Amino acid sequence: MELLRNAVRPYAWGSRTAIPELLGGPVPAPHPQAELWLGAHPADPSVLMHGDGAETSLLEALRADPYRHLGPRCVQRWGGQLPFLLKVLAAEEPLSLQAHPSAEQAAEGFAREEGRGVPRDAPERNYVDPSHKPELICALTELQALAGFRDPQRTVELLEALDVPALDPYRVMLAAEPNADGLRTLFTTWITMPEPAMKAVLPPTLDGCVALLRRNGVWSSSPTPSGDFRAPRGGDFRAECRVILELAETYPGDVGVLAALLLNHVVLASGEAMYLPAGNLHTYLRGTGVEISANSDNVLRGGLTSKHIDVPELLRVLDFSYGALPVQRGEPVGPHETAYRTLAEEFQLTRLEWAHGESTPMCLHSRWPQILLCTQGSARLHSLDGGSVTVRRGGSVWLAADDPEVTVCPGPGPVQLFRALPGLAPLPAHLGPSFGSE
Ligand SMILES: [Zn+2]
Repeated sequence: MELLRNAVRPYAWGSRTAIPELLGGPVPAPHPQAELWLGAHPADPSVLMHGDGAETSLLEALRADPYRHLGPRCVQRWGGQLPFLLKVLAAEEPLSLQAHPSAEQAAEGFAREEGRGVPRDAPERNYVDPSHKPELICALTELQALAGFRDPQRTVELLEALDVPALDPYRVMLAAEPNADGLRTLFTTWITMPEPAMKAVLPPTLDGCVALLRRNGVWSSSPTPSGDFRAPRGGDFRAECRVILELAETYPGDVGVLAALLLNHVVLASGEAMYLPAGNLHTYLRGTGVEISANSDNVLRGGLTSKHIDVPELLRVLDFSYGALPVQRGEPVGPHETAYRTLAEEFQLTRLEWAHGESTPMCLHSRWPQILLCTQGSARLHSLDGGSVTVRRGGSVWLAADDPEVTVCPGPGPVQLFRALPGLAPLPAHLGPSFGSE
């Protein structure tokens, strides 16, 4: 059981307030702070802070003693690597339009680029590691995203509502084939559009969005009520139009703005989560969340970014199935623990919470590697071998598979911690490995 020090990634879309506030630094920070990485990804591993002032990179600690830190099941399955990467993600501006590869695509793409001798840190490198990157994001504040393709019938209605002659050929194209094939055709047409053609379509589309908002008598910037996206029928596309205009303002002339017309607009309330499988086209627009994914940084981008874009490679990995993504509120697995389930064997995420006045301790006994991240209040962790640490808001703790049982004693509430562990670990893991699926 050791406290962690974690790296902050300063991507341009990041917030100057959310992560600095969480970590107790000066607010606003002089530069955007986009992501806090908790884990052992080679690009930015966390550091174990031993009580005596000494520090070790978590990556090096895993290499030196994989069985102690990861346990035999993880070593067997992932060869000495921590299978998940936990992040706090804080978006002030939209991220790039992106998708992540499947396990086979990642292994093949990584081998291909290694074979061609593309340096791992080259800007044009797509596959920086050989792993897939399914991900789950749980909102800490209201979090807006575009994720997955909208039902094409509904997109045809949106294009009709925009009433822009320059969009007619594309609306007709999708209406003739309102399925995954039609989405592939239209998305490919837009994302590969030469600049002159795009210049003929994008500005009138933006005018159409403005006109729709005016027609609906709403030209204010009042926030979208959470949950709008779940009752799309009969809706008036105001939220969709606002998003398109905001994207165009941040990324003027970017074909990704047109492509965004095809995606579901999702608003997650605090505590709600969604799981993004391989091939899902998505971008986070605004908000703060805890993200957990396989231990990978493989991103294929299609627009809304100044970073490297590889459209043919993106088209190879994209999944054109459509429909709203399920929003998870989590399921209780104990008096103070709520779990978000995923299809990934690499990770799962649970939320530990104590309200003001609640003080029942909770025992963590799992024999799996775990990271605890405190997002509210504080807690004192007592190890069966006598050690103890206090974790405060923004702080995090590494629990090795071989560590003795740990008891979490909440401070004065409310207290909230997130707990990351491999998807293979049975839940509730604090009942020990003899419980459940093992
Ligand atoms: Zn992503």
